[in-house]
Amino acid sequence: MSDAAAARRDPGFCRFHTEHTIVVDWSAEAGWSDWSVEPYGSIVLDPAAMVLHYGQSVFEGLKAFRQPDGSAALFRPADHARRLGRSASRLAMPEMPVDLFLEACAELVALDDDWIPDEPGQALYLRPLMIATEAQVGLRDSRRYRCVFLAYPVDPCFGRDFAPISVETSGESVRAVRGGMGEAKCSGNYAASLMVRREALARGFNEVLWLDGLERRWVEELSGMNVFFVWRDGDGPDGVRLTTPPCQGTIVRGITRDCVLTLARDLGIRVAEEPTTIDGVMAGARSGRLVEMFACGTAAVVVPVGRVADAGASAVFGDGREGPVTARLRNAFIEIQHGIRPDTHGWLRTVRNDLASVHGSTDRQLRSWADA
Ligand SMILES: *Cc1c(COP(=O)(O)O)cnc(C)c1O
Repeated sequence: MSDAAAARRDPGFCRFHTEHTIVVDWSAEAGWSDWSVEPYGSIVLDPAAMVLHYGQSVFEGLKAFRQPDGSAALFRPADHARRLGRSASRLAMPEMPVDLFLEACAELVALDDDWIPDEPGQALYLRPLMIATEAQVGLRDSRRYRCVFLAYPVDPCFGRDFAPISVETSGESVRAVRGGMGEAKCSGNYAASLMVRREALARGFNEVLWLDGLERRWVEELSGMNVFFVWRDGDGPDGVRLTTPPCQGTIVRGITRDCVLTLARDLGIRVAEEPTTIDGVMAGARSGRLVEMFACGTAAVVVPVGRVADAGASAVFGDGREGPVTARLRNAFIEIQHGIRPDTHGWLRTVRNDLASVHGSTDRQLRSWADA
């Protein structure tokens, strides 16, 4: 059995990297290079490389899914490319052209097609990482960057059973403030979250729920996922309302978040981007008006939050198990990703590869690349 077959059988989350990486360089003199394929391996960096001292490092996380016809499709790759560009420009780094990003992703997926697992919820996770490589001590922006695209077969990061997670609010610590880097997918944001996360994990929670940096009462997001609330303000299916905190520069604009908002509207659920206080969440859970909470992101997909703790108090949503709105949204989302439900929003981009042409999916490939 090949390494790829073993990894596909029980991938976990990023336990196995694939064989290839794609590398693209940028310099102030030459701009972006063409992409090149390299075997997975170490990067040699000068100890004065600016990423190590001044933290210019941004990344993305996106997925490719096996389709019913045997092809593979990237999920909203152009949106990930644009967000990488926005993250990069916040850190004074160059924006990679969207087409170059798309070609690099498609090439990596085609090369490592053998590593893509098949089951619903499983995927090939791509991690494009951009870092400052110029050797220079003395604060200014770098004149050299490297972008490396990595690939991993994965299960959803909290597992394929989507068991409810528990979260604890961040207390005195703050992840981001308006005008800072909170909206960028930059490495420093995760460094800022680690200490608080470790403490929450030690107390038995799965994640930190970040509150806003000024008043410390507005709910923002988890360390790598956006959050949603399901409120019941009437009887029957129409009595349900879905809300999520608005993007005001302190949270990452999740592409999954955008999909959930869109899918909820498609399913006839009322939705709103609405500021929510932690006191409102705790009171809503206790009164039964807040019936479900869930978190979402590319890595975790859509995962229920069963319990939230704040300032020593704890509240459970419903009976602590996954609620029907969360399950319905996740199932619709996964079915679109795997080509089971019609992709009416054009979120999938099929990747050309030998396997796909063997399976005769040429029409679909031509259509999806032409639509780009
Ligand atoms: C990546 C990320 C998200 C989710 O974004 P997706 O595009 O849905 O994967 C949410 N919050 C943070 C802090 C993130 O890093």
